[in-house]
Order: sequence, then C-alpha cells, then structure tokens
Amino acid sequence: MFKFLKQVSDYALGTWAAAKYIGQGFSVTFDHMRRRPITVQYPYEKLIPSERFRGRIHFEFDKCIACEVCVRVCPINLPVVDWEYNKEAKKKELKHYSIDFGVCIFCGNCVEYCPTNCLSMTEEYELATYDRHELNYDNVALGRLPTKVTQDPMVTPLRELAYLPKGIMEPHDLPKNSPRAGSFPEDLVEK
Ligand code: SF4
Ligand code: SF4
Repeated sequence: MFKFLKQVSDYALGTWAAAKYIGQGFSVTFDHMRRRPITVQYPYEKLIPSERFRGRIHFEFDKCIACEVCVRVCPINLPVVDWEYNKEAKKKELKHYSIDFGVCIFCGNCVEYCPTNCLSMTEEYELATYDRHELNYDNVALGRLPTKVTQDPMVTPLRELAYLPKGIMEPHDLPKNSPRAGSFPEDLVEK
C-alpha cells in the first residue's frame, strides 16, 4: 500500500513539474507574440554603433612620431611604420604608415597605447571588399575621415536595442528625445 501511494505521489510531482516547464515555455512564446518584429532595412536603415565601438582605425600622419609603440603592443605586430632618421633634425621622420584590416583583430591596443593619440577607433564598420589586399590601408586611407550613420542623409539611423528606452522593443517610430536606457560611459566614470 505504501509503495503504491509513493508511486502516485511521484507521478503527481512529475506531472506538476512537466506542467510547470510547459507553462514556462509557453510564457516565453506568448511574450514574443506580443512584440513587433525588429527588422533593420539595411542599407536604407542602419543601427547606430554603441559608444566605444571598435571600428576602422583613423590615423593622423602629422601627429605620429614613429615611436613604434603601436607595433610592440599589437598582438600580431601589425602596423607598418616606415621611417628614416633625419640627421639634421636628429629625429625620426615618418615616411609611410599602414594597417592591414584583413588581419587586424580590432583589439584597440595600438589606440590605447599610442603616446600622441594619433590613432583612434571610429564607428565605421563597412569594410567589405572583393579583394582582401584592398583592406591594407596606407596612411592616406587611414587618414580619411570616417563615415557616420547619423550623418548620412541617405540612411535612417536606428538605435541599438540595448539603447532603447525602457520597455520599448522596437527602434522604429521612436518619439523624439525619448530617453535611452542606462547611462553614458562618462556618467559611469563620474560615479
Ligand atoms: S604609437 Fe602612435 S606615434 Fe608611435 S608609431 Fe604608432 S601611431 Fe605613431
Ligand atoms: S587594433 Fe589591435 S590588432 Fe589591430 S593594429 Fe591595433 S593593436 Fe594590432
């Protein structure tokens, strides 16, 4: 008799657990059914990259002192710093500088450690090309001002999901000046 009661009790517990898991699964399904689809109509719409996004590197030739710190801190010694020693001025003279974005892992070390801040990460991420050798940017290509999603008149910029106001799950038709969720990095640093 006791064994039979235990079997009934185990069965009831198992049934309850199964019903609970099915309920949890359905709650996720129903939650998603209430949301509108989030589709970015690329390339007419583009997401605004988050602050501190690590995109294509920008280089300022005139500020570079050819110290080669960027090469030493790069995990793959990638930047090519081509310089000559100027005997009259008694200092290095930069001739050519390049970074191959086909190899770069966008870790940001070179930007972090450059003593003259002549390197910076931009929010440019559209680097696709048919020939990977075209990704080897010389100092002219690196010096080009980056494109910005928010400054392109042909593009509708959309806020990334993480930066939408609380409770809003869709970046289209956002009311103007709607507050973003979370703090800006500078606010966090001040705290
Ligand atoms: S660390 Fe900066 S200043 Fe030094 S070589 Fe690299 S880019 Fe130029
Ligand atoms: S971002 Fe990283 S991998 Fe790319 S050049 Fe700079 S240090 Fe090297």
